[in-house]
Amino acid sequence: MTSRLPGFFRLGVAERRLRLLEATKLPAARLAAIDAGGLPLEAADGMIENVVGTYALPFAVAVNFTIDDVDVLVPMAIEEPSVVAAASNAARMTRPAGFTTQSSDPVMIGQIQVTNVDDVDAGAAALRGAADELVADAARLVPKLAARGGGPRALEVRVLARPPGPDGGVLVAHLHVDCRDAMGANLVNTLCEALADRVARISGGRAGLRILSNLTDERAITVRCRVDDSALGQDRATGEEVRAAIASASRFAELDPYRAATHNKGIMNGVDAVLVATGQDWRAVEAGAHAFAAKSGAYRPLATWREDDGALLGELVMPLAVGTVGGALHGHPAAQLALELAGVDHADRLAAVAAAAGLATNLAALRALATEGIQRGHMALHARGLARAAGATGDLVDRVAAELSGCGDVKPDRAREILARLKESP
Ligand code: NAD
Repeated sequence: MTSRLPGFFRLGVAERRLRLLEATKLPAARLAAIDAGGLPLEAADGMIENVVGTYALPFAVAVNFTIDDVDVLVPMAIEEPSVVAAASNAARMTRPAGFTTQSSDPVMIGQIQVTNVDDVDAGAAALRGAADELVADAARLVPKLAARGGGPRALEVRVLARPPGPDGGVLVAHLHVDCRDAMGANLVNTLCEALADRVARISGGRAGLRILSNLTDERAITVRCRVDDSALGQDRATGEEVRAAIASASRFAELDPYRAATHNKGIMNGVDAVLVATGQDWRAVEAGAHAFAAKSGAYRPLATWREDDGALLGELVMPLAVGTVGGALHGHPAAQLALELAGVDHADRLAAVAAAAGLATNLAALRALATEGIQRGHMALHARGLARAAGATGDLVDRVAAELSGCGDVKPDRAREILARLKESP
């Protein structure tokens, strides 16, 4: 299957559907899941409370993606124009190598809070001593997960507060659970609830909250791409100039949280569009992404861009807790179809697709910003050249050039007109 579908964007919806079926070899009837009314009202009523209808979004596929040497059509559901086009254009720039990814094991963290611990150091030591036993007990509660190669992996203890204080001494135990292909929130919450009383007893305190953390930094993905200068150039901007401008924009985001927030929003444009299309808990991923971005104490860009020998290297590192089983998936036909279209059959691959989409939309946004800046600079230079060619000298060069750039019509005739007028009434 190739994700190169030249001219896909020029086709009508019906023709696009035919091309999609051709490319994916899916039966035509499967596309009913993304027809109007694709989510039956009874299914919607079973998903949340107080249902009075369903809510539709455009569903598209971004083309040109190669991820870990496999071409993929990337499903996206989003209301914002340009995201799908931007992702497709940027993905084309990365070809033929495309995107490469590395995932950690799908380990989620469950938190068990313990308050009113008189001696937090002794409590933490006791818990650490019992960690192996607690992990083994937790594993017995999820035999099917263990049989799939997942299950509880470790128990870590952190001291959060010492007495006195409103909650006395406070500890938190982190239960690390490999959730395999599930996002894992319910799995982890169930285990934390089951262990909480024992954890509190062992540490000499009172059990508080028991729920997963959405800062899923143990379940992170790294995605990389390399874009040659020849793919970066556009109109008047050379590839080398665009490369330098994108690297500079990356450094700006690394220096400034105000810029980093917008930089990361450009990443989440791609990530969220894939998450929505595939029925994921995108609020969980958003919370995790921004907490991760700020983990060093300063809010940082999730992706960075560096220059390397005639090319640009992009790298995105972010936590991505997604599932191909569980959650809303079983009841949502369009989400199931999205996974099928993308050929995704396990959670790591879904994380790779979402992250690659995020790096692509980041690249497209930075290139647009960079070339706009370069274009404007070039037009200003060009305007000065035209002003001189029209016969302007001294301060008239700047005045004619400024007016030329301002009117957006940077042409020799217009330069001569402006110069004549300024000479008549200086
Ligand atoms: P889930 O409760 O549906 O559990 C997944 C199920 O899939 C398990 O029962 C497991 O046994 C089964 N399974 C089948 N094949 C599997 C495989 N290959 N790998 C792993 N498990 C497999 O779903 P979940 O993933 O535990 O929880 C996700 C849901 O929890 C989402 O709907 C999310 O919105 C919600 N949630 C989120 C939060 C949060 O993020 N803070 C809190 C509570 C609930």
